[in-house]
Amino acid sequence: MKTPLNTVPEVELVEWLKSVGQPQYRAKQILSWIHGKFAISADEMKNIPASLRAALDGEFELSCCHVLESSRAGDGTEKFLLGLHDGGCVECVIIPSRERTTFCLSTQVGCPVGCLFCASGKGGFVRNLDASEILGEFFICCRRLGHLPDNIVFMGTGEPLMNYSNLISAMTVICDEKRVGMSPRRITVSTSGFVPGIRKFADEGRPWNLAVSLHSPTDKGRALLIPDKHRYPLEEICEACGYYFKATGRIVTFEYTLIKGVNDSQEDAMKLAKIASECSAKVNLIPLNPVEKTSFSRPDSSQILKFESMLRSREIPVTVRIEKGDNIDAACGQLRISHLDSKVLGLKCWESKR
Ligand code: SF4
Repeated sequence: MKTPLNTVPEVELVEWLKSVGQPQYRAKQILSWIHGKFAISADEMKNIPASLRAALDGEFELSCCHVLESSRAGDGTEKFLLGLHDGGCVECVIIPSRERTTFCLSTQVGCPVGCLFCASGKGGFVRNLDASEILGEFFICCRRLGHLPDNIVFMGTGEPLMNYSNLISAMTVICDEKRVGMSPRRITVSTSGFVPGIRKFADEGRPWNLAVSLHSPTDKGRALLIPDKHRYPLEEICEACGYYFKATGRIVTFEYTLIKGVNDSQEDAMKLAKIASECSAKVNLIPLNPVEKTSFSRPDSSQILKFESMLRSREIPVTVRIEKGDNIDAACGQLRISHLDSKVLGLKCWESKR
């Protein structure tokens, strides 16, 4: 297999250039095509001689994934189904708003956690994406947008902290000033509460953001939504969040998928407020986008508002996600499932409102 060019450090590229009798300044030129102009083929590199472009093509993989399908909603939200070298596929989304553009990226093919309300967990876990594939998603979105996003959330398919080294490698390239150069403060990693991963992430000492999906303020409630295998006790999750806050100084966000009759009561809101207060966390409420073949549904607007108000009354910083993708239908993870099942394409995405 060829070496993916998007993860190759400049020093290594310089060594390779020397080995093929080329000057080292070409390394900067080549990498600026990858990291700055989002090139997916050597042919695009107009300031590189044809012979070197051919040699690059022979040695390196320039595009680690390719667009199989895409769908654009009326509000500009755009979702891609990307094909991988082994026939697998993943989703990523460009979410625009008036103030900013956010990329939502996946880290695994399928998800080992298997939350019962989530399309991504259906069909089980297939494999981790490697760093070059995660970067491939990122660069495909950049290429489509024409520039870097304002924010990135690792909140697509997969449990990011269970694909730790590939995630960190990809984020390191994205945050390296000599490569892509985005601020780490603009990147959020969303975990289902994988405690060993949270602690390891804290030890990185980088100001990346952490979001933790609680989905219920009690262990009993979480047990109804998240299978045993990868579910950690709330107490351990809160301790790990405290550890993260201490190590990085970054406030943790609790993601909370609101599901009608399951976790949307006033009692749930009070318990969530208590936990958030103890952990100095903010809360992001995500009214469920229902997934086919599950019995879960979204609470009505008045219930969502009551839940939000209860948190506010306890002085918890809270946001509620608004639905994006107004003319196509399917939740995150469903594009891949639909593709695998019947090649039906659809989209519905979400974005936080301030
Ligand atoms: S909600 Fe997240 S952790 Fe749970 S199955 Fe879906 S992708 Fe995996």
